[in-house]
Amino acid sequence: SVPLGFFSGIGAASKLGILIKGSTYIEALAKINTIAFDKTGTLTKGNFKVTTIQSLTTNEHELLEYASYAEYYSNHPIACSIKKAFGEAIDEQRITNTKEIAGRGIKATIDHKTVFIGNHTLMKEQGLTVAIPEEVGTIVHVAVDHKYLGYLVICDQIKPESRQVIRDLKENCHLKDTVLLTGDQEKIAHYVAKELGIDQVYSELLPQEKVTQVEKLLLASDKDHTVAFVGDGINDAPVLTRCDIGISMGGLGSDAAIEASDIVIMDDDLKKIPLAISLCRRTMTIVK
Ligand code: ADP
Ligand code: MG
Repeated sequence: SVPLGFFSGIGAASKLGILIKGSTYIEALAKINTIAFDKTGTLTKGNFKVTTIQSLTTNEHELLEYASYAEYYSNHPIACSIKKAFGEAIDEQRITNTKEIAGRGIKATIDHKTVFIGNHTLMKEQGLTVAIPEEVGTIVHVAVDHKYLGYLVICDQIKPESRQVIRDLKENCHLKDTVLLTGDQEKIAHYVAKELGIDQVYSELLPQEKVTQVEKLLLASDKDHTVAFVGDGINDAPVLTRCDIGISMGGLGSDAAIEASDIVIMDDDLKKIPLAISLCRRTMTIVK
């Protein structure tokens, strides 16, 4: 049987907007010493804005138009920002095919032309050489019929509370390791990690590679400690399931992520994570 103290712990957490899906996760969270985060929408607002449009072969408007048409059926935060920047009505009949390539971008058929939009890995796979801009941001490249057209730079903002939360996790909760696992590019990943004081950074990861990386963290952690992952995207479901404690955001998170997680932060407030850890540790001292 489950000691009563666990129920009061779960109850106290739920009043704070922290949904804990069972008493085992109270015990697990009390023993946490490594926490890994997804970047987009978790540590950052996930509200991208297009800041630069750089076309090498055509006009900027045409580049943005191809990009918006290719992204039309996607609800990825990158897609939303591009469609917003374009702002014009889309003629769906010009789009005859679209395919999302997870962690890379999109392949689409627009006006019977093959459009690729996404990161430099996607372009490299197509045998295309890309421009490397100076700016810090997520670079989205566009190619049409095997010709590289140029790129968009889109920027996200770090959530105002992220820095303090990382500090709390280290200084007040005494976590040994903070980790960033992202599908985004190396330069932006290192920039965010440095701004926030995160210890380890792994970038340009495909969803499956995030799982492999979490498995390495699990191996590095001793049997008395646990590893948590915090994420919110559809892509994050496999890694949320694989780690000891999967934590997702209830407000902005995808249904798949909420379903796959053990703990849900109902209002997306990252400050609830160190709070939940303290609460679980207090609950364990009462239960024991
Ligand atoms: P994250 O780990 O930050 O949540 P994702 O796994 O969703 O990122 O995507 C990883 C990378 O793949 C993005 O940074 C982007 O370069 C590229 N990408 C993914 N989806 C799209 C899209 N719809 N349009 C353009 N690029 C995309
Ligand atoms: Mg994501």
